[in-house]
Amino acid sequence: MFDDLYYEYLATRYKNLKNKGVIENADIVYEDGNPTCGDVIRIYVKLSPEGIIEDMKFDGKGCTISQVSADILADIVKGKRLEEAQKLEKGDFINELGIDLSPIRIKCALLSYKVFKMGAYGVKVDDERVDD
Ligand code: ZN
Repeated sequence: MFDDLYYEYLATRYKNLKNKGVIENADIVYEDGNPTCGDVIRIYVKLSPEGIIEDMKFDGKGCTISQVSADILADIVKGKRLEEAQKLEKGDFINELGIDLSPIRIKCALLSYKVFKMGAYGVKVDDERVDD
């Protein structure tokens, strides 16, 4: 459960999402959803010619945690090389969020992370990869 202070932080950030929007001509566009909660996240990533993430925006709908975590993710990856951002560990991302999450909420928090990874690698990050 959240303490009041953290919930307040989430609610405030939710009203002031910095990275919500659309990037025209983005290099990476990917979308996925979280059926258990109804969250949907679509990410847009703009790369420099050198492969640095110049901008990331997201669009979507869903619970506060899914939207705020996408906003925080964009802050984390902007300015990084794509290869570096691809290596962002799940645990490190959760630490950045600073939330003590129940298993259901974890899925909400990690949706943007999952969408980013899938988009960045152009493949699914779970075990569904098929060998050539
Ligand atoms: Zn959710």
